Amino acid sequence: MSDHASTNREPAEMNPFDLGGRTALVTGANTGLGQAIAVGLAGAGADIVAVGRSAPTETEAMVIGLGRSFKAISADLGSTAPIADVVAQAGPVDILVNNAGIIRRADSLDFSEADWDAVMDTNLKTAFFLSQAVARTWVAGGRGGRIINICSMLSFQGGIRVPSYTASKSGLAGLTRLLACEWASKGINVNGIAPGYFETNNTEALRADETRNRDILARIPAGHWGKPSDLAGAAVFLSSDAASYVHGTVLAVDGGWLAR
Ligand code: NAP
Repeated sequence: MSDHASTNREPAEMNPFDLGGRTALVTGANTGLGQAIAVGLAGAGADIVAVGRSAPTETEAMVIGLGRSFKAISADLGSTAPIADVVAQAGPVDILVNNAGIIRRADSLDFSEADWDAVMDTNLKTAFFLSQAVARTWVAGGRGGRIINICSMLSFQGGIRVPSYTASKSGLAGLTRLLACEWASKGINVNGIAPGYFETNNTEALRADETRNRDILARIPAGHWGKPSDLAGAAVFLSSDAASYVHGTVLAVDGGWLAR
């Protein structure tokens, strides 16, 4: 191709990371990593549907400020009950980010069944059945899409005092691979992102504990906790044409934590 022809290409062809014309459904987008992902995807051109139990007021202002459209759907994702309604209200989407998640901390000798069920239901069961519901719309419409599951370092490691969280995030990494195997041929890319240690509500207890905070920091090659915005590029990549042959991977964004 001549230089002249290449300068006349459409912007989307020149930029494989461009998400213009696409819509992303992000769960738990009111705060933390979900907010950063929603804003990052909007910055790359995507319109946003935010699904969660708290009003995503701040995220809405940020997305609108980037010139993208924003729709909020109120739903408690601690059970599968709202899924059919969420998918109907969302309308057509191109990207699903399963981000909403919770953590419960206690010694395994004392860990309660309630803390097991709450975490497994939110982090794993809802992620699966929401993926199923969205993928069914894609298959019925004869089109593909992107699913990004927000995993964890505890998709790879054991951790301590978070048995249901480790089980759910290890399960989510396995599910990412299984769904990729089943759906890649349907044009659906299923991948995960494994954040390292990020400054959000989820890690407040760790950062408040002086010893844990010091130990964690000492082990991160980058030498600092992640900022939520550090995660956005990975989400844009996995949502974009640049990742069209990427299936079933769990991409660590961890300041080098797993490399230690
Ligand atoms: P966060 O600030 O606590 O955000 C969690 C999000 O999930 C919030 O939007 C929360 O809504 C939503 N959520 C939780 N339970 C819900 C429910 N039943 N229904 C609807 N929404 C619900 O923590 P975060 O760090 O951003 O976490 C985002 C994801 O990243 C989680 O899956 C977490 O496990 C994962 N992660 C975080 C880190 C880290 O270092 N921060 C590391 C690895 C993985 P509310 O605001 O209403 O509670």
